[in-house]
Amino acid sequence: MSCLFCMLAKGEIHSDIVFEDDEIIAFRDINPQAPHHILVIPRRHIATVNDANSEDAALIGKLTLAAQRVAKDLSVAEDGYRLVMNCNDHGGQTVFHLHLHLLAGRPMHWPPG
Ligand code: 5GP
Ligand code: ZN
Repeated sequence: MSCLFCMLAKGEIHSDIVFEDDEIIAFRDINPQAPHHILVIPRRHIATVNDANSEDAALIGKLTLAAQRVAKDLSVAEDGYRLVMNCNDHGGQTVFHLHLHLLAGRPMHWPPG
């Protein structure tokens, strides 16, 4: 199986990494939708939120904590930011390796389009 984000997590494709540990990698989105647009992904392949199970609970939690840390490192925590996980067609998912978007650096609108 060839997966863009698996390749990126292994360093086979270049990305602008802002955080990584043994389970998680966070890097800048190639097509940013805000001044800071970071993707936080597990190194392990999980296709969509639908494919996560109870064994992944800690890992899913760590994605949020990694995003929190990146937000602090980028000095956007106080102003605020948005975390988004798109799932499948109606969610607007285009890369089928689970990822958390961290959007920051400008006010976000609600409801989303
Ligand atoms: P999704 O639409 O699946 O929620 O988000 C996928 C995101 O991956 C998009 O925001 C898109 O710009 C980003 N993306 C797609 N290909 C690449 C790539 O090769 N490198 C990086 N850094 N981001 C990518
Ligand atoms: Zn993958």
